[in-house]
Amino acid sequence: MSTNPHHRRHRLADRSSGHSGFGDRVRQIPSLFVRANPFLDAVWAAADEGACMTTGCTECGTLDFRRMLATIDGVPAESPLNAEATRLARAEHAPDAPGALATALAAVDFDILRLAPRWYDALDIALFHLRDRAELRFVIEAWVRRESVPTRILDLVLFRHARYAFPDERLADLWIERCLDAACESMDEGLVESLILSCPERVGADPRAYRVAMEAAARSACVRAIVRRLGDSPDGPKRNHWGDCA
Ligand SMILES: [Zn+2]
Repeated sequence: MSTNPHHRRHRLADRSSGHSGFGDRVRQIPSLFVRANPFLDAVWAAADEGACMTTGCTECGTLDFRRMLATIDGVPAESPLNAEATRLARAEHAPDAPGALATALAAVDFDILRLAPRWYDALDIALFHLRDRAELRFVIEAWVRRESVPTRILDLVLFRHARYAFPDERLADLWIERCLDAACESMDEGLVESLILSCPERVGADPRAYRVAMEAAARSACVRAIVRRLGDSPDGPKRNHWGDCA
């Protein structure tokens, strides 16, 4: 994940969120699969209705989309949009089981998800929504066991949640481990960058990941700047640790 969220959001949005008619073309294709998953259904409905999907929007707080997410969990339209309302709505059914939204996300097909317009922003909003309701664990527990997780989703969960030990320390640790493996395999610069920013000590302690980080730094001025800044930061690795790339 980039240190400049706007730059990254726009660049990636252009590529994958259907701004150039791509979304219209695939709109019909996954409809059956989409309808089978209430989260995907909400993502497409939000696109159709033009709901704001800007994470952390200071004007509307992505209210319309979050209302759609709450509706999946059975929160009545007149209820406030807070964690307590979700808890009340769910208490009528099975309070200890994951709610419908968490279940839908845990089971979501990443390939079909990535056909949806603004899927990345939608996922970002939904994961925070679940975290506020202490249900992020159900989703990450399911995802971390999957055979393959797209790099951008690894990156998103790492940067927003796992680095801060969400949903819990054990799962955050497993997630970081997966990210280290994926970074070594794919050499994806965005992921390498996120790892260096999120958990420099883990990168430094893993010889493969350390090598990949150094290689990324040699290729990318952006990664190089981060590595250099970490070297100067009291929280980051000591300068001599990262010295060969500064
Ligand atoms: Zn907004």
